[in-house]
Parts: sequence; C-alpha cells; structure tokens
Amino acid sequence: RDQNFLLDSGCHARRVLRISSPDTDPQVLALQNAALTRLEGVVEAPWLLPDKNGSQQTLIDRPVGRCPVRLFTWVTGTPLAEVKPHPPSLLEDAGALLARADLALADLDPGFERQLDWNLLEAGTTLAERLPFVPAAGRPPLERALARWQVLAPRLEALPRQVIHNDGNDWNLLVRYQGGTPRATGLIDFGDIVVAPRVCEVAIAAAYAGLGKGRPEHAAASLLAGYHRVAPLGEDEIALLPGLIAARLAVSLATSAWRRRAGRLDPYLSISEQQAEAGLEHLQSRSSALLESIFRIAAGMDAHKSARRVMDHLREVGGASASPVDADLRREPVALIELGIEGAEVAELDDPNDPSQLDALCRKLERQIGSQVSAGGYAEPRPVYLTDAFAVPGSDRRERRTIHLGVDLFQPAGRPIFAPLAGRVHSFADNADLGDYGPTILLEHDVPGEDGITFYSLYGHLSRASLDGKFEGQAVAAGEQIATLGDVGVNGGWAPHLHFQLMLDLLDRRGEFPGVAPPSEREAWLGLCPDPNLLFGIPEKSLAPAPPAAEELLERRAKSLGRNLSLAYREPLHIVRGRGAFLIDALGNAYLDTVNNVAHVGHGHPRVLRAARRQAALLNTNTRYLHSGILRYAERLAATLPEPLSVCFLVCSGSEANDLAWRMARAATGRRHALVIGGAYHGHTEATIGLSPYKFDGPGGEGRPASTRVLPMPDLYRQRNVGLPAPIFAPGEEPAAFFAEAILSCGGQVDLPPGYLECVYSAVRAAGGLCVADEVQTGFGRVGDHFWAFESQGVVPDIVTMGKPIGNGHPLAAVVTTPEVAAAFANGMEYFNTFGGNPVSCAIGEAVLDVIEEEGLQAHAAELGRVLTEGLGETARRHPLIGDVRGRGLFLGVELVDDAGSKAPATRQARYLAERMKERGILTSLDGPASNVLKIKPPLVFSRGDADRLLETLDEVLGEDLARPAGPSSDMASPDS
Ligand code: PMP
Repeated sequence: RDQNFLLDSGCHARRVLRISSPDTDPQVLALQNAALTRLEGVVEAPWLLPDKNGSQQTLIDRPVGRCPVRLFTWVTGTPLAEVKPHPPSLLEDAGALLARADLALADLDPGFERQLDWNLLEAGTTLAERLPFVPAAGRPPLERALARWQVLAPRLEALPRQVIHNDGNDWNLLVRYQGGTPRATGLIDFGDIVVAPRVCEVAIAAAYAGLGKGRPEHAAASLLAGYHRVAPLGEDEIALLPGLIAARLAVSLATSAWRRRAGRLDPYLSISEQQAEAGLEHLQSRSSALLESIFRIAAGMDAHKSARRVMDHLREVGGASASPVDADLRREPVALIELGIEGAEVAELDDPNDPSQLDALCRKLERQIGSQVSAGGYAEPRPVYLTDAFAVPGSDRRERRTIHLGVDLFQPAGRPIFAPLAGRVHSFADNADLGDYGPTILLEHDVPGEDGITFYSLYGHLSRASLDGKFEGQAVAAGEQIATLGDVGVNGGWAPHLHFQLMLDLLDRRGEFPGVAPPSEREAWLGLCPDPNLLFGIPEKSLAPAPPAAEELLERRAKSLGRNLSLAYREPLHIVRGRGAFLIDALGNAYLDTVNNVAHVGHGHPRVLRAARRQAALLNTNTRYLHSGILRYAERLAATLPEPLSVCFLVCSGSEANDLAWRMARAATGRRHALVIGGAYHGHTEATIGLSPYKFDGPGGEGRPASTRVLPMPDLYRQRNVGLPAPIFAPGEEPAAFFAEAILSCGGQVDLPPGYLECVYSAVRAAGGLCVADEVQTGFGRVGDHFWAFESQGVVPDIVTMGKPIGNGHPLAAVVTTPEVAAAFANGMEYFNTFGGNPVSCAIGEAVLDVIEEEGLQAHAAELGRVLTEGLGETARRHPLIGDVRGRGLFLGVELVDDAGSKAPATRQARYLAERMKERGILTSLDGPASNVLKIKPPLVFSRGDADRLLETLDEVLGEDLARPAGPSSDMASPDS
C-alpha cells in the first residue's frame, strides 16, 4: 500500500521517502505523524522531515490519484529477526524500548476511532471471518485460540486504552551492538498504530519474539520483564497475556490463509507462518495458568494471585494440622534422606536407583536417631531425574525436570496416610507407569473466609486399595486416614514413601500433577507448589540446607582464595556432581563435559570409587613399608611403556612429576640448561615455570631464563617452523634435558610434524642430554592410535612424566625412567614423598588401568576421534570461521580464524563460542597462544551420541552472529550522526 524509497546520496544521511496510497485515511497519517513527533529523543524511530513549506507531508499527483508523500530519517540497525541468538537481555531491552514508546504515547489523543484487523480488541471478529479460509486440518489450534480470546474479551474490553505502536514484531524492532552487546535501539513501521490496552503491545511483540524458539514462553517472559520494569502492568493485564499471544499468532495464521485464498499473499506475511504454527501449538500444550505464573514471576510478582492468602492460611493452620504419616513430624525425630544432587549417602549406594537399597538406607538413618520416618526433598534438584524421561520439550540445552516439588516421607509399605487438613477428594487415579506415582489422591481445601480461594494436596505412591470406594467431592476430615502406603510393585517402582505436594492451582490436571520442574522455571513451579513443611513443622535442623547462591560463593571466594585462581565463564558455574561425561550444577542442570581429560574414565566411575573406598578402609601410609599395591601398580604402569623405561617414582601432580624429572636429568647429566618448545607448559613450580614459555612469556612472567632454550613452535596450519629442527649447542650450554609433549596442548593442540621428536632427540642425545616426554595431558590411550602420544613419533624417551588422567581426578602422578637414569639420581640424598605412591593412590591408579583395558577406551578414543574429526571437517566447510581441525583420538583442536586468507586468530569469536556452548549445556574450553583454539578432550566414556550433540550444537552456534562488532558503543545518538 505504501511505496518506500531509500534515498542514499552516498555522502548525506540516508532518508526514506514514503508515498502512501491515495485512499489512506488522513486521520491515520496525522496520528502516525503525531506519534513520531512524540517519540523524538525517546527511541530511535523515523523522524519526520518537513518539506520546503515546513509541513510534515505533501501531496503529489500520480496515475492512481493524489498521494501523500513524507520524508523520514533512516533508522540504522539490524532487524531483531536477523539477529541470532536472542539473549534474554536483548528481549528485555526490546520490551523496555516498547514501554518507553508507550509511555511517550500515553496521553496522545487521536480524536477518532481506527478500525484495524490487527487490533487485538478485534481479534474475535477477524478470526471468525478468516477461519473458514484455513484448511480444516490446521483449524483446531486457531479455534481454540478464538474460544480462549472470547473468554478473555470482556476483561480486555475493561482495561484502560491508549495509543500503542501495535506491531513490535521482529522486523520492526532494530538492534545495534554496543560494546559487543546487542541492544534494541530502534522502532519502525507505525502503520498499525491503534488505540488499545497496553498489554496488547506486549502480547504482539512477545508473539513474534517467540518465533522459532523451542520455548517461546521464555522469550515472552523476558520481553515482559523489560516492559514491566519501565511501564509496570497490573496482574489483571498479565493474566490476559497467554491468551492474547495465542490470539495474535492465530490472527496472523488466519490472515495468511485468507490472503492466500484471495491470491494476495504478501511473502512478508508468510515468512513466519510455520514458526507461528509451531509456537501456537507449543503454547497451547502448556496450561495458561502455568504461562501466567511464568509471566507473573518475570514481572516480579508471586507465582499465583492467591499465593499470599493461601500461604498465610497455611502458616496459620500449620501448627495444628495433623501429620500425614504415622509419626508426629513436629515432635519425634525425623531422619533426613538427601536424594538431591549433593546427597552423598545416597550417591554412595552401589545402585542409588535400587528401591531396596534406598529402603535399607532409610531404615538405617532412622535407627541412628531413633526415628520412624525419613523425609526430604522440597525444592531439591535430583540426579535421578536426569534421564530422557524427564526431558523438557523444546529445550535447546537438553534441560531435564530435576527440581522436586513435594516432600517425600519414607515409611514401610502398608502404613496409614492421613489428611493433614479437612477438604474433599478432588480426583484420584492409578498412574501405573514405571517411575510414575502409582495410585494417587488429590484433595481440595478451602481457605476459610476467602470467597472461593482453594488449594490442593497430592498423595502419591499409595496402595491400590487406597482408591477403593473413593469418589470425587467426598468430604475428608482433618486427621482422617485416607490411604495406606503402596509397595514397590504398585507405586511406580520406588522405595515405599509418600510423595506429598501442595498446589495453588491444578493447571487443569486430574489424578496427578507434575512432581518435578525444570530449573529454568524453578520460581514459577515452586511458587505454585508451596513448601509442605508449612504444614508438617519438621524442625529446620532435620531439613537439608538450601545450596548457597553463586553470588555468596563468589564473595567468599574473593576473600579466602587467591585472586589469580581463575574461574571459567562470565557467569561461573557451581558444579556439585559429576557422572560419566557430565557435570551437574547445584540446580540440577547437566553439562556435557568436552574438556576434562582428568576424569579420564568418566566422572565418578564406580570401579574407581570402589577401589578408593576399599583401600582407604584398609590402610593409607607411605612408601616406607612393604606393600604389594605399590609394586603391582609400578609393574603395570611400566608394562605400558617400551623398554628400558621401567623404574617408577610416584608423585602427586604433573608439575611435581616434571620438577622431579628435571632434578633427575640434572643429577644424571650434571648440566643446568634445558630445551623446550614454544608455547609449552610443564608445571607451576619454580623450576617448571622456567621450562614453560606459556608462563614465562605470558602475563606476569619474568621472561625466558638464560638457561632455557626455546625451539619455535611448529605451526602446520600456517606452515611456520615446520622444518625439522636440529639444534646445535654452544659449549657449556648443552642441555640436561629436552622436555616436550608429542601434541602441544597449551600450545593449541598442535600435532608435531612426523619425525620431529626423532630429530630433536638425536641432537640432544648427541650433546649428552636426556629426553623427557610430558604425557601429563596426552597419555593413557587418549590419542587412540597409541597408549602414549610419543609412540606415534617413533621415539623412546629417557623419562616419561604422567599426571591428570592417571588417577581419574585423584592427585596421583608419576615419573617413569630407565634403570640407568634412576641409578644416577640415587646420589645419596634420600627421595621421600609423603603422599606419592600411597596405597590408596596406587589402588586408584590400578583401577583406572583396569577400566581403560576392560572398557576398550583406547580403541573407543580412536573411533570417536575419527567421527569427530570427520564431523568437524564438514562443519569447517560450512563455517569459514574454522581454519583448522587437528589432533588425534579424543585430543583435538579446532582453530578459529577471522579470515581464511590471513588466518588471523578469531579470539573474540572463540570466547563467544565457548560461552554460547555453555548456555547450550556443553562445556568447552580454549587454548593456544591467542586463545582461539577450541580444545576437545572429553572423558573417554564420551559416547557417539555425545559426539553428535557436540557437532550439532557447534554447527548451530557457529551459525549465530559471531561477527558482531565488539567495538565502540553506538549510543542513543541521533540517527544522522
Ligand atoms: N604438563 C602439562 C603438559 C600440563 O598440561 C600440565 C597441567 N595443565 C602440567 C604438566 C602440570 O600438571 P599439574 O597441574 O597436575 O601440576
């Protein structure tokens, strides 16, 4: 209808010339002009430029008639639709921008009523008219949206109105980068301006902000949070949001169908059709009451409108309510059973998922304190729910519903269950699936004196007989027995216990209700499900303390730990548990760990734990006594190495191993010079820092010691220093030792050129020096083709140092050398190491070797290495940011470069990538002199599925706006500047 021309002279600021259709209502144009004038200096919107006569518009004659013409400034920015991803902060910003605009338009009086299909006040009419044009199969969601709108319409009608933009869609909101952060700065297209309740502004923008997102309600919540901060909405307005968002999506879909039938489908309108369909379907799959709670939380309100009154009531009656189980929870001791992420007693069971083991543990805990019941669980994140059965649909980070919403009370099967408060049976069902509630009863309770306010209690895992004779509406007295506890055969397969939960709203459910919630919706769900202990009155000390907030830990850390201990990620993680290839935070979020080559055979490997526990129970001393454990371990370790490497020294860290290797080399050669490779890191002790260019040439370093000589780091990708070095040593500067890894880890996962070590080893040996292979990172089968990385270079070192993976996280490390070097080191000074080689460490080391062997982890590393290298190669073809993929087995590096020509390190993009991967639930990390190499060195139990997920997520994140400018902030300057 409008013709828009971009005027670009190349040297003056750009302008937009708009020729409107001759039938355009002059009142609408006047309203738009008045609105734009109001917004000057408030948000970046098109500014109207007067014509030669000083008027805001002029008329020209065209073949179609007399057309109004206006000239606007050009608003710079990228449409929100083209910005990827949309962090919550950006959507909040967009909400705030719309709120500022609405505040500025609040007292604008249009002086006329505008009829517009896109006005949500008229959604009912528009939908009813256009629904017949929608193919029958696609109609039901739209019909549901219409029915919902009709219910809400009277409440919408009753709200105050004002002029609103009415089309804050993702093509009309413009984004600019400020200091690398995307900010919503501009608002364009005032064609749909209308008078309506402000909540319509939010609903429309939220409908589009959710497009293409797995969980559009979270995008909507962010947008609302930003709007509400600037222009607060009332709870009656927020209550309408879920229905209005759905109505807008439905209007958009119905209008597309209508235009398609009329042969007038503007591609602009169909762009978002599929996404709108998916979004509508998703929103309708969740209850509006839950969406309302999520929105209320985003606006800083209680999760439910009656929360305050129900909570007050619960506090009031709590002291006098009956116990739900056959034990006085207020007075008798209650055993704490911690099934949470940090519940060590449960984690120590051989199989925490075995009901009989859990049952036995409860009885043991109860015996210890003379109790009849074990309790726990409210708000607790639990590892047992980290399975696919609890996956959250649409989550782009594979979130699981881990937060427990009720309290579990463990007692033997058959024990009676009582209603703590009077009420009536709301519903009951046998939820018979394995892992479900089994027989379940829900009661409804009134808040006395408050008209119509009710709340609910749930009793799960009952016996089948508990449901006999029950009917809906059946009155239940306080303290009345309503059920008995079910046994493992009927209760969903759990150790016998009562799952008790309180609910302010049943979200349209009957006979069951979710007992767990995702961490990302924690506040909404916990707000809907108050703490049952308000009724039970179990003394505080019997309950698990809530985990401390990250901010508190940060503060304490700043006071009590050294400042140069770094933390990973902008928002540090609070990790409390590890399993296999996963790390789990205090809220129950699981992260796929692609960097931890210390947890070599997997975090918390049961075999390793068992070995540690058994030996710790027997003995932990030092090497001054005879013990077959240390001998067995030393023999097995030596057996993995070529002859003549056979003498072991067990120590506690990689640094200590290299430090000791250095002392040995000096003792054996009588020299004090060293040879190393550029970018290398060999440890944090005084001596090993001197062997580590990564440190002495890095921040805070004192530079290269005169006694250390550095070979330039070979860089096969850039074809620098790729010739085989044959160092010649000046007299008196011959090295005691040459230290090198076979794949340079801190150097950026750089594989040495073939023949490299052979060449340097022979030069060093010719000069009388020793050769040390640092296998701290690369050893124990990780590189796949060999057990030790040096083997692929075809050399046999004089000393091998080991660490990290050797004890799967236990502080164990080793130096293995030849009898000759060991003899030279034994110069009379005793070598004693308090902890090195203690029986517990040795038992753990042996268990790690067992697991590598039994689980075939070296071959697995080789196989997955091939899968990943191939997959990364394909990813690199799609994303030029990847310059190089290198490494071997599960020791890989992905080098990111700004431009394939210059191969300039893309450090900023690499950092962005690591942060985004973390947000998507995958931990990665960076290395190399420019921190632009993504290193992949996961626990070897990394699965094929994990590898696929890593590749998919990497591909998606690389498709985001990685090239965003970091640079100077673009503030709210005039668009002409
Ligand atoms: N050598 C290499 C190659 C390493 O990567 C490291 C640790 N990153 C060390 C030695 C030192 O090991 P630790 O931190 O156990 O002292």
